[in-house]
Amino acid sequence: MTEELNPFKIAQEQLDMAAKLLNLDPAVHSLLREPKRVLEVTFPVRMDNGQVKTFKGFRVQYNDARGPCKGGIRFHPQETLDTVKALAAWMTWKTACVGVPLGGGKGGVICDPKQMSRGELERLSRAYIDAIGAIIGPELDIPAPDVYTDPQIMAWMMDEYAKIRGHNAPGVITGKPIPLGGSQGRGDATARGAVYTIREATKKLGIPLRGATAAIQGYGNAGSFAAILLEEMGARIIAVSDSKGGILNENGLDPRAVLQHKQKTSSVVGFAGGKAVTNEALLEEPCEILVPAALENVITGKNASRIKTRMVAEVANGPTTPDADEILHKNKVFDIPDFLCNAGGVTVSYFEWVQNIYGLYWPVEEIHDRLDKMMTKAFNDVYDMHIKHKVNMRMAAYMLSVQRVAEAMKLRGWV
Ligand code: NAD
Repeated sequence: MTEELNPFKIAQEQLDMAAKLLNLDPAVHSLLREPKRVLEVTFPVRMDNGQVKTFKGFRVQYNDARGPCKGGIRFHPQETLDTVKALAAWMTWKTACVGVPLGGGKGGVICDPKQMSRGELERLSRAYIDAIGAIIGPELDIPAPDVYTDPQIMAWMMDEYAKIRGHNAPGVITGKPIPLGGSQGRGDATARGAVYTIREATKKLGIPLRGATAAIQGYGNAGSFAAILLEEMGARIIAVSDSKGGILNENGLDPRAVLQHKQKTSSVVGFAGGKAVTNEALLEEPCEILVPAALENVITGKNASRIKTRMVAEVANGPTTPDADEILHKNKVFDIPDFLCNAGGVTVSYFEWVQNIYGLYWPVEEIHDRLDKMMTKAFNDVYDMHIKHKVNMRMAAYMLSVQRVAEAMKLRGWV
């Protein structure tokens, strides 16, 4: 990995920029440039063929000044400590930005889950929790699902933690299945949170959401729910895509019918109500709302000047490169940055943790209402920072989050 692409170096540089604009106390800045705690573990797992294989994993607790660390666990063959450190830093900013009383963390195991049986995955999940069990807990560090981990894996992990401690502790992990203390409303939380921020942005930009045109790249969990929810609010979905290509209809696509088609054929491509469009062309389609909901680095210095939208709502993590950011800002394209736009998932994870601690569970309407209030406030807090300091929304989100974490560190007397 070259220096410039090292994700942790990028995370540090982003912090440095915010620190400069905030005139941040150098002692706070220096502490925030590194994770508070990094645990690297090596552990054995018996495979189905009877042999024992050694695996390596990480858990990074970046900052817990505002509350216990929070962040997912990734199972990935190319996992690196620097990726986990960067993701843990971004979780710190995300929880602060949306205003939940939690810090930031992340975990990962170097493994290829696609090559493993269910039994092997269960033993790996349990062994990882045995290895990191001493530093996690409902008041310490609360993991969640992430790349290639799911509610079943969370259930095994929660069960293993309960065995280690000798008692149930559902609040140790979120993203659990509902019968084990998972929250209502987790399935569409990321998309729903994003749509609330889009609604707020349309008010600021003076674009009526009813009739506004939207194009969505990526039709997985986040993208498909975003399309359905935007349509429910009156927007017209003119284009959607997945890894196999896209479809376009200026008069509007029916997002539920597209989802049914994708569930049947495994792609949106070939949907009868639209004509074919490439993923690249979709991004350049004139529309009011552009939602990248698939991969990172899709809006770059090369295509940013051809993007004809009023706003980019970053449901995906890191869809816009720094070069593109500058071009979009110059062209007055409003950006809802990823760690604000996609914070609905962590917010409902926070609700799950609260419900586990109380032992009292909320109906889905209450989840939606609370999520709306938190996302609306977070959007408006970032927007106010953007106006006050004349910076783009991404830098405003960084400044707000870093300021909140710094304030907690100072109040605790760390610096
Ligand atoms: P997912 O796997 O359910 O869906 C991803 C979609 O992207 C699929 O439809 C896939 O076909 C499509 N895709 C893959 N390669 C593509 C390409 N080259 N061009 C266009 N589409 C392509 O994933 P998801 O959970 O919906 O997550 C999507 C993005 O949102 C990711 O960046 C993820 O990190 C981010 N995100 C998701 C959540 C969440 O709770 N689901 C939370 C925060 C951030």
